Amino acid sequence: MSEKIGFIGLGIMGQGMVQNLLAVGFPVYIWNRTHPKMDPLIELGAIAATSPADVASHADIIITCVSDTPDVEHVMLQSNGVIFGVKPGNLVIDMSTISPEITRRLAQAFADRGVHMLDAPISGGSEGAAKGTLSIMVGGDAEQFARAMPAFEAMGKAITHVGDIGAGQTVKLVNQILVVVTMLGVGEALLFAQAGGLDLNKTLEAVTQGAAGSWMLSNRGPQVVERDWRPGFTIDLQQKDLRLVLEAADQMGVPMLGTGMVFNLYRTLQQQGLGLEGNHALVKALEHLAGLEIGKQR
Ligand code: NAP
Repeated sequence: MSEKIGFIGLGIMGQGMVQNLLAVGFPVYIWNRTHPKMDPLIELGAIAATSPADVASHADIIITCVSDTPDVEHVMLQSNGVIFGVKPGNLVIDMSTISPEITRRLAQAFADRGVHMLDAPISGGSEGAAKGTLSIMVGGDAEQFARAMPAFEAMGKAITHVGDIGAGQTVKLVNQILVVVTMLGVGEALLFAQAGGLDLNKTLEAVTQGAAGSWMLSNRGPQVVERDWRPGFTIDLQQKDLRLVLEAADQMGVPMLGTGMVFNLYRTLQQQGLGLEGNHALVKALEHLAGLEIGKQR
């Protein structure tokens, strides 16, 4: 019989991930701070719990996917948090993107109670969560990685065991450096194309399949051209990830020139109240500097 899953955090990502766990037949206990977000999943067969501790008391494998480091600490350690519902032998998997250092501390707190932990942050956006094609970067014990594999396979495609606990989060930060610096390139290129009077859709068609191709270009390029700023991943969350990158880089003494610049460009957009737009709205900061708008007739 398959293990019982508990899932905490039913945001943009959690919704699709739980749907895919239910689709392959896992029993799934769910909890979300804003309760109505549980309703569509209850209709699909998920079982509502009353708190993170209640989720943990029913499940064998407890997954969290909430926003930031303090939020994971909150759902794990608060008075009705996961730690008060777990039993020895349970496996806790945090799939949020948070600090590698705090991840290692949380794992120690669970280990003291005989509970295993993996860090398994994800990439692939809301589309990947909905389609079950996420990339999952996993840190922790190899035996627990194997145990979690059926659940990971329900949610993702590229599932990589990258090292000890915390290594998954560090690889995820590598991923975020690549994402934002690529998005900076996509925005700058489209602005250049606009200034050159090009047909932007034809331009994308011409360059997407070649050496310059990337997920950001294929998926977010057309959204920029349509001026569709709906988030797959919000600027606020992207900024949080870049803060984690810059903190870790500072500790390691690594200069982060491109990432640091994008961090500051996103800050300007946050100050203009655009934090809930998609991370591809980075291009708006470049437009402001250039005095030029993509998609406008010149
Ligand atoms: P989201 O839509 O903003 O959802 C955040 C979830 O966390 C919601 O369920 C929210 O509950 C919950 N939450 C936040 N703070 C909480 C707290 N203090 N206590 C309890 N619950 C709390 O975010 P998302 O896009 O699903 O992202 C979730 C995680 O996945 C983040 O770490 C993000 O960086 C990562 N991620 C996202 C993407 C993406 O493309 N969206 C891609 C890769 C990784 P409420 O509903 O009550 O607000």
